[in-house]
Amino acid sequence: MSMSDIDHEKKKQISVRGIVDVVNVGNIKKAFNRHVHYTLVKDRNVATSRDYYFALAHTVKDNLVSRWIRTQQHYYENDPKRVYYLSLEYYMGRTLQNTMINLGIQGACDEAMYQMGLDIEELEDLEEDAGLGNGGLGRLAACFLDSMATLGLAAYGYGIRYEYGIFAQKIKNGEQLEEPDDWLRYGNPWEKARPEFMLPVNFYGHVIDTPEGRKWVNTQVIFAMPYDSPIPGYKNNHVNTLRLWSAKSPIEFNLKFFNDGDYIQAVFDRNLAENISKVLYPNDNFFEGKELRLKQEYFMVAATLQDIIRRYKSSKFGSRDHHRTGFEQFPDKVAIQLNDTHPSLAIPELMRVLVDVEGLPWEKAWDITTRTCAYTNHTVLPEALERWPVSMLQSILPRHLEIIYHINFLHLKEVGARYPGDFDRLRRMSLIEEDGEKRVNMAHLSIVGSHAINGVARIHSEILKDSVFREFYEMHPDKFQNKTNGITPRRWLLLCNPNLSDVIESKIGSDWAVHLEQLQQLKKLARDQNFQRSVAKVKQENKLRLAELLEKEYGVKVNPASLFDIQVKRIHEYKRQLLNCLHIITLYNRIKKNPSAPFVPRTIMIGGKAAPGYLLAKKIIKLICSVGQVVNNDPIVGDKLKVIFLENYRVTLAEKIIPAADLSEQISTAGTEASGTGNMKFMLNGALTIGTLDGANVEMAEEMGNENIFIFGMTVDEVEDLKRRGYNAWDYYNKLPEAKQCIDQITGGFFSPNNPDEFKDIGDVLMKWDRFYLLADYEDYIKTQDKVSKVYQDSTKWMEMAIHNIASSGKFSSDRTIGDYAREIWGVEPSWKALPDPHEPRDVQ
Ligand SMILES: *Cc1c(COP(=O)(O)O)cnc(C)c1O
Repeated sequence: MSMSDIDHEKKKQISVRGIVDVVNVGNIKKAFNRHVHYTLVKDRNVATSRDYYFALAHTVKDNLVSRWIRTQQHYYENDPKRVYYLSLEYYMGRTLQNTMINLGIQGACDEAMYQMGLDIEELEDLEEDAGLGNGGLGRLAACFLDSMATLGLAAYGYGIRYEYGIFAQKIKNGEQLEEPDDWLRYGNPWEKARPEFMLPVNFYGHVIDTPEGRKWVNTQVIFAMPYDSPIPGYKNNHVNTLRLWSAKSPIEFNLKFFNDGDYIQAVFDRNLAENISKVLYPNDNFFEGKELRLKQEYFMVAATLQDIIRRYKSSKFGSRDHHRTGFEQFPDKVAIQLNDTHPSLAIPELMRVLVDVEGLPWEKAWDITTRTCAYTNHTVLPEALERWPVSMLQSILPRHLEIIYHINFLHLKEVGARYPGDFDRLRRMSLIEEDGEKRVNMAHLSIVGSHAINGVARIHSEILKDSVFREFYEMHPDKFQNKTNGITPRRWLLLCNPNLSDVIESKIGSDWAVHLEQLQQLKKLARDQNFQRSVAKVKQENKLRLAELLEKEYGVKVNPASLFDIQVKRIHEYKRQLLNCLHIITLYNRIKKNPSAPFVPRTIMIGGKAAPGYLLAKKIIKLICSVGQVVNNDPIVGDKLKVIFLENYRVTLAEKIIPAADLSEQISTAGTEASGTGNMKFMLNGALTIGTLDGANVEMAEEMGNENIFIFGMTVDEVEDLKRRGYNAWDYYNKLPEAKQCIDQITGGFFSPNNPDEFKDIGDVLMKWDRFYLLADYEDYIKTQDKVSKVYQDSTKWMEMAIHNIASSGKFSSDRTIGDYAREIWGVEPSWKALPDPHEPRDVQ
C-alpha cells in the first residue's frame, strides 16, 4: 500500500466525513463522468486536473440544487422575517470541500475520486479562493453566512461581485509586490447569473420640487446584475443565497455619442460604468475617501434595497392580490444588518424610497427605517472611520445629501431639547463635521438611523459606550449592545483539521460541530495521558505537513520539533508585528551573546498583506524578511531559531497554518483590536495564546482561565493612564539594554548593511511618535515569551493547557454569535430544524 492508499483507508473509516454508501459513490461517479463529457466537453485522454476539479465542483453543486430551490420555496410558503446581511466584503475562500462537508458527502466523493484514480486533495487545491475581503471583517461575514444557514434563518447575504478580489502578495527581495487577483479567469462553477433580476441604480443628476415633493432627476443609470451563490447549512437541507451585484452598462449608455457617430468610442465608454464592480479596495481598517468607493457602496445598497422591497411586496401573505401594499409590517418582516458603516447609505436610501417613491410621510418612514436597520461597529481607530466629503455626496448623490441634512436637523433638535444651551455637544454629535472640509460622519448617521448598535467583543462594546460614542449612549442607552464575534467550527475545525476532529469525535461524538459548547466535556480529559498523546500526535502531524509545504513552496527547511510561533493577520501598526520582531531580534542577540546557553528552539512565522499604499506596513515586511536573512543564515544560530515570512496569507493558507501552530500571537495594544477572530481559530485548534487584554482575548482568558493563556502588557486603563501621563519611548530605551540594542541595530543598518538608512523610519516611529506604545509593553512581552519557552519544555503541561484551550472555545462559535443577533437584534428565533430531504431522482440524468 502506498502512503496515499493508507491515508485513503483511514479516511474511509471516518464518519464525520459522511457515510460512504455504494449507491451514492456510484451516482457521483456517473454525474462526474457526465460533466467531463457534457459540461467540459473532454474525454479522459485530454482532460486536465482543472477539468476534473470543475467536473467534481459541478457534481457537488448538483447535490445542492433541489435543496436550494426547496429552501427558497419554503421561505415563500411560510413568510418568516427575512434577515439581510449587507457587507462590502465576503472573504469566502474555497467552496468545494465546505460544500461536501455541509452536505455530508465528503466521504462518498473521496471514494468516488479514488475509484477513478484521482486524488481529491489535488483537485481541491486547484480551486481559486473567493478573496472578496480584506481580513477579519470580510471573513466574519463568511462565517455568519454559514451559521445563518445552519441555524435555519431566512437570511440573505448581499454584496458586490468584484472581478478582482484582494491582490496576491509576492515577496521579492523582502518586498511586497501586488498581483491582480483574476479569480474568475477559469469561470466560477458556484455562481448563477440572474439577468432577469437586473436593477437600475442612479447616480449624479439633481433634485427638483414637484407637487408630490422632492424628486431626483436627470440621473445617470447603471444596472446591477445579480449573481447568486448557494450557502448550505450543516447537514440540515437548508440552502440560503449570497447575492452579489455586478455593474452593467445600460444598452442606451452614451446614446448621444451613438447619434454623433462616434459609435466605437461609445462602446469603449461602456467599460467606464462597469468599473464600479471591478476591484475590491485593499484597505483594512483604513478609510480612503475615493469617489469610486463611494459609488460601490451606493451601488450595492441601492440594488439590494430594491430587491428587499420587491420581495417584501410580493409576499404570498400580502393584503390584496397576494401582494403587500403598505409598509406597516416592514420592520416585522425585514431586518437589515450593516456590516460596519460601509453600507450605511442604506439609511438615507430607504428614507428616499419610502418618502419620495412610496409617498410615506417622513415620520412614518423614519420609524420604519430605524426599526429595520442595525449597525455593527468594527473599529475605534480614527483613521478607519468613514467621513465622506459633503461635496462628493452633493455631486454623486444630491438627494441623499438633502435627506442626511434633514435627518441631522431633526437629530440635533432632539439633542438640543435634551441639553439646552450645550452648543459644543451639538457640534460633537452632529452628522456633519464642519472643521476643515465639510464631511458626513457615517458612524453618527448609522447610530441615529438604527435601533441597535453593537460592538464585536465585550471590551470593545464598553469602549464604544464610554468613549467613542459616549454622548450617543447617554441619549439612547437601550440601543447599545455587544455581540462577541465567532468563527464557524465547520471550516475552522472539521475542514481544516480532520485529524483533530476525529480525536475529539472518538471521545465525545460529533454533535460538537453544531453545539460547540460540548467541547467542555474534554476538560476532564486534559490530564488524561492517552488523550494528551493523541492530541499531541495530531499536532505533530500537522506541523510535519506544514514543514513539507514550507520546504516545497519556499525552499526553507524548518525543525519540526521547534516551537511553531505564528502571527498571521493583516500587517498594521496597531497589531504590532514590530513588537514580535523586537522579540526575534532579542532572541538572536541572546544566542549570539551566549551560544552554548540552553535554548528552546523556535520557528517564528509572520504572514499578512500590507495595504498597497501603507508604506510603513510594507517597510515592516521588509524588516521581518531582513531579520530573517541575518538569523536564518547565521551558523551560530543553527536550527535554534528560524524566521519565516509567510507569503500571500489568505483563507486557504490560514486553513493550512493554524492547525500546525503551537503559539498564537495576539499582541495588539489594549483598546485597539475590536475583537479579532484569528485568535479564536488558533484556540479551537489547540494552540496556546500569548496576548494582551484586548478584544476577544479578554473573553478567551475568562473561558479557559488565566492559567491557560499567556497574558502580558498594559490593560486599556493602563494605556489610557500612560497617554495622560505622556509616553516617552526613551524612558524604556534607557532602562532596557536589550530593547536599546534592538533599536540601535534596526536604525544602525545591522539588518540592512547595503542600505544602512533602510529602517531609520521604523526607528523614528518607535522612538518619536509611536501611537501603539511598543516599548512600554516590551519588557513584559519578553518575560512572558521566556515563560512560554519554559512551559513548552514541559510537554505534559503544554498539552494540558492546549486541551483546556480547545475545551473552552465553545463560546466562540459563530452559531452562538448568530443566535444572539437573531434573538436580541433581529427578533427571530433560530430553528435548528432540518428541512425534509429532497427526493431527488436516484440517477440524475
Ligand atoms: C481570520 C482571518 C483574518 C482575521 O485575523 P485577525 O487575527 O483577527 O486579524 C484575516 N485574514 C484571514 C485570511 C483570516 O482567515
